[in-house]
Amino acid sequence: MQKVLFIDRDGTIILETDDFMIETYAKITFYPKVFYWLGKIVEEFDYKLVLVTNQDGLGSDFFPDEPFFTTHKFVMRTFADQGIYFSAEHIDRTFPNEEKDTRKPGVGMLKEYFSPEYDLKNSFVIGDRITDVMLAKNLGAKCFWLNDGRNLGGGEIELNSDALQEYVAVESRDWEQIYEYLKSVN
Ligand SMILES: [Mg+2]
Repeated sequence: MQKVLFIDRDGTIILETDDFMIETYAKITFYPKVFYWLGKIVEEFDYKLVLVTNQDGLGSDFFPDEPFFTTHKFVMRTFADQGIYFSAEHIDRTFPNEEKDTRKPGVGMLKEYFSPEYDLKNSFVIGDRITDVMLAKNLGAKCFWLNDGRNLGGGEIELNSDALQEYVAVESRDWEQIYEYLKSVN
């Protein structure tokens, strides 16, 4: 069975910005050491990489597809240049108040992974928000929580982070800790 790393984008492989929109090159900062540690994870272990991101209002007038996708493609190409390939990208465009199940922590975009082909129990979500921890719970997986202390997205769900601790494999702001954990279970 194939294990998966469901990886968030903003705040996880690139840094979050104050306005939560990354549509210019100037706003792209890669997460510290992400290329080194994720590169080692790809090289040493057998996980499929799947990008899962909420991009509130993408495609609307205030957050048009272009230039978002121009910069997004640059981000993904830069990872590919380092040998880090994502096998799929799932991008939700809705707002929280639409309450769509495609929006994290919903699994509406991820139904194909609920199959005997995938080992969700030994898969992980890597993300910076409580909604990413919730996503791990909803997938039957565990989470690497790059918690920056802002608790962003906390308003979207009822549960507080204490109730979600059992789904957190590692809480750290350091990608090295994710690598070390995976090394201990592989
Ligand atoms: Mg994020």
